[in-house]
Amino acid sequence: MRTKLIVGNWKMNGSRAVNAGLLEGIVAGLDGARAEAAVCVPAPYLQQCQDVLTGTPVAWGAQDVSVHACGAYTGEICASMLAEFACRYVIVGHSERRAYHRESSELVAQKARAVLAEGMTPIVCVGETLAQRDAGETVAVVGGQLGAVLELLEPAQVAQLVVAYEPVWAIGTGKNATPAMAQEVHAALREQLRARNQDAAPTVRILYGGSMKPENARELLAQPDIDGGLIGGAALKARDFLAIIHAA
Ligand code: PEP
Repeated sequence: MRTKLIVGNWKMNGSRAVNAGLLEGIVAGLDGARAEAAVCVPAPYLQQCQDVLTGTPVAWGAQDVSVHACGAYTGEICASMLAEFACRYVIVGHSERRAYHRESSELVAQKARAVLAEGMTPIVCVGETLAQRDAGETVAVVGGQLGAVLELLEPAQVAQLVVAYEPVWAIGTGKNATPAMAQEVHAALREQLRARNQDAAPTVRILYGGSMKPENARELLAQPDIDGGLIGGAALKARDFLAIIHAA
């Protein structure tokens, strides 16, 4: 049995004042929720999350990490630094980083390994563009992205992953994959996990991301292989984020 996981990806949004209201609003509305909840925030706000969320059911994490250990890498943040703020999760391979920072699947795999080495959980994002979907390449594309990670990790480490299927054409566009479209890809990803580690595959959570909101969450989250959501825009309003958590 996989407990559903709802993760807010704040992207490059927030201020100390706005975050305070949002975090307190989320914590205040969690009563009765059965899903796990987390927020992945810009690195400067990790301390604020640790201060506000310690002792609450809400976990926190980062949105990216360096592949390097500490050293001469100006501007980078290494996994051991994130661990010092008690991050539980680190997003790796978000499509915005793949597109704007030209991150390859091999680099994303190294990031996942760096996160695991510090005892945190990587949320490995995969997803196809609209052109790739139209060309019938969806499963091959996401399979290649996940495959690079599975190849680099030890089979036992597969159990420690969270995977997020995020069709690029659905992120921030208001267009979500239909539940059936998403389920098909999630099932293919789980088969791929199974081929690497048969025992781990049934326990790995595969999140859907891409314009998930209160209106469509319930139906998406009812699919057998959709184990939660990675939420962008709707994670910036406590009411919407909570509605998704309660839908799960
Ligand atoms: C995301 O950025 O991970 C995301 C899913 O964004 P949105 O929910 O806004 O589509």
